[in-house]
Parts: sequence; C-alpha cells; structure tokens
Amino acid sequence: VIGPPRAAVVVVGSEILLDARQDTNGPFIEQALGGEGYACILRLIVGDHIGEIAAAIRTALSRAEIVIVSGGLGPTFDDLTREACADALGVRLERRADIEGVLRERLRRRGLTPPETVYRMADVLQGAEVLTNTVGSAPGQFVAGPPALALLPGVPAELKAMLPAEVLPRLRVRFACAPPLRTVLKIAGLYESEVEARVAPLMGAWTGLESTILAAPGEVTLILRAAANDAAALERARGDVRQALGEAIYAEADEGIEIAVGRLLLARGLTLATAESCTAGMLGAMITSVPGSSAYYLGGAVAYSNRIKEGWLDVPPDLIAARGAVSEEAAASMARGVRRFSGSNLALAVTGVAGPGGGTLEKPVGRVHVAFAAPWGEAARTLNLPGDREMIRMRSCRAALDLLRREISRARGGAPA
Ligand code: ATP
Ligand code: MG
Repeated sequence: VIGPPRAAVVVVGSEILLDARQDTNGPFIEQALGGEGYACILRLIVGDHIGEIAAAIRTALSRAEIVIVSGGLGPTFDDLTREACADALGVRLERRADIEGVLRERLRRRGLTPPETVYRMADVLQGAEVLTNTVGSAPGQFVAGPPALALLPGVPAELKAMLPAEVLPRLRVRFACAPPLRTVLKIAGLYESEVEARVAPLMGAWTGLESTILAAPGEVTLILRAAANDAAALERARGDVRQALGEAIYAEADEGIEIAVGRLLLARGLTLATAESCTAGMLGAMITSVPGSSAYYLGGAVAYSNRIKEGWLDVPPDLIAARGAVSEEAAASMARGVRRFSGSNLALAVTGVAGPGGGTLEKPVGRVHVAFAAPWGEAARTLNLPGDREMIRMRSCRAALDLLRREISRARGGAPA
C-alpha cells in the first residue's frame, strides 16, 4: 500500500437514520484514527438490519485496511452486528463460556434474571480477540486480519473508553505510521474573512503545510498540519500566525474561549459575576460548563426586563428612559450593578436585540452591547452581529468573554493568556 493505512467506519443504528439522532461516534473514531496517522476514507451508516450491516462491512473491508464498527453489540433483538460480521467474514460465532459466566454473575448480583438471549453478548467471531468494556456490559471484538476489524458498542461513553484503551494499541502494533503534526489556534474578535486576509499572505512561504480555517459563531479555528518529520515548518508557521493575529489568538489548543478565560481568572485569582439580558443565562451556562468554574465564577442575574435591571442591578430608570435598555450605558450600568451586588472582582454584562423581531432602524437586530467592570476601570463594546437569534446570542457570549480576556491582559500590560 502506498500512503498511510486507510480506515473505514461503519456506524450501526436505525435511530441515526430514522429518528434524527446525531452520529457522534463516527466523528470521534475518525478524529482518533486521523491522530494516529491513518487516512479515513469512508463512513457508512446503516440501520439495524442484518443484510445491510453485512453489506456495509463487506464494502468497508474491501476498501480499507482498518475497519471500525460502532453499535449493535447489545443484548436486544435489534443488536445484529455480531451475526452480520460473521456473515461478512464467513466465520462462525462461538459462545464464550468465560464471558457468559461474567455476565451471569454481574446480572445475578444486580438481582436480574433476564431472558437467555442476553447471552448473545458472549458470542464471539471465530479467531477474534475480546475487548474489555469497563463502562458497560457488551464486550468489543477485534479481528487482526488483515484487514483489521474492530467491533465496539454504540453507547458513546463505552466507545470513547474502549477505542483508545483497546483498539488503538492493537492497531499500532500492526500498522507502523507516524501521526501527522497538528496545531490548533483559536481566535476571537475577528471574523473568518479577517483571519483569512491576515493569514493568506503568509501561506506562500509555507511549504509542505496544510491549513484550514473554520468559522463558528464568535470564534475562528485555524488548523495547521505538517508531516511527522516537519516540526520545524509547523513551528515557523505558528510563529507567523502569532505575529499576524496577535492577541486575537486566545488559545493554542482546541478549546472554547470559556476554558481559556477560566484559566486566566484562576491564574490571576480573580472572581467574576455576570448580568445578562438578551443571552439570559447562556453566558453563565457557558462559563459553568467548565469543571472547577466555582473557583472564579460567583453567579449572575438574568435581567431580561427593565424592572429586573432597575430593581436588582440598580440601573437608573432615567438612564433606560434616555438611552434605552439596549445601550452601552445600560450594559455598563448592569456590569457595575452586578459587581457591586455580588462583591466580585470583575463583571460582564450583555444587552442587545437578538431578533428576529424587536429591531428598529436605530437599533437593528444584532445590535449588542457588552460591558466589563473591574476595580481598575470599565470597558464596553457595541457590536453589530450577523446571524439568527441563536447565533447572535452565541456570538454575544463569546464577545463578552473576549472583552474580559483582552481587558485583563491589557490591565496587566502582558501578553494575552
Ligand atoms: P451496543 O453495541 O452497546 O448495544 P447499540 O448501538 O446497540 O450499542 P443502542 O441501544 O442502539 O446500543 O444505543 C445505545 C445508546 O447509544 C443510544 O442512546 C444511542 O442513541 C446511542 N448511540 C448508538 N450509536 C450512536 C452513534 N453512532 N452516535 C451517537 N450515539 C449513538
Ligand atoms: Mg443500536
């Protein structure tokens, strides 16, 4: 074979085809295999139908050196992956007494007497190794091949645990392959087109490098890839990008801005509170999605109505009458109010028009004000954000966190964390 080993993924589950459940296992497997240096060429999604599963597995085996199958290893009638694989490989299934014994013992301890059919989970493809499932009951299977074939349970937590622990080490033994080098830079405060405009002129000088720019509401991801033996080229390119984008880079890892901000607050020993109008708790939810955020986040107010803004946050009614609830002055006052009320070091506030209704000529949909308050001063930004309601709300949260990040860095006169 010329080039890296090829990998194919077969995702089994009617719920994905019929009930609009998202396939998260496929992308997870592909990320992991890509990180090993294997080339993912194909993902097939099939329902719980033995003929379709067998056909998909035959196709995958005919196209790739590595085939990973997700789902259909459970005990119920619609778990048919074992039988389908036996059919595709032309081998028999053998009931493994040791696995059956473990299952019986586990079920007995839990006081369950399930139908005998659950012991189909102990049926193993002839010549296959059994892969331990430490999270759930259905074991996985590995046929060394070639081609190599791994069967994993569809429950995401089980698959996520078993792929790196049980499958990747077995593949490494069989497929020598240097994983490509990869750098991820996360950017806030610039649109994709602005990132592109600054980075594109650098690319001419990069050789043997692959780059991708991905946009999401309020953040841009820049991915640089180089061959395993070309770390120097990757480092040069990273240096170029740092110069071109400066403090717009909030992390050199694949992480959300709430994680970078959390690290910054923790490192500086600062606490934060929030006051949210148009995002109504989304900013707080984002901040607290980070484990350990209680060390720096005190809480916040969902101040949707003027009454709450005035009553809880001491926003002067005169200010709202004169400038409106959607104004830089109102945002600044909300930030001040929640900081005073909570006793936090820092505060963020968001107010704006998320749409689709409620926009005016003077204050159109997408007009959002974010404000920051600290012992050393205040800052506010007026934004005109594109997108639908959810995108405007998401962009508002990320813009608020970006303001916080930049203001902390500026106060210290240091580089952004
Ligand atoms: P097992 O092999 O452990 O029996 P299964 O696919 O047969 O897995 P199901 O009962 O069909 O098990 O699914 C268990 C849970 O895992 C369900 O909530 C299902 O939606 C989820 N799941 C299955 N496959 C996927 C997938 N590809 N991506 C995300 N979730 C999945
Ligand atoms: Mg299933």
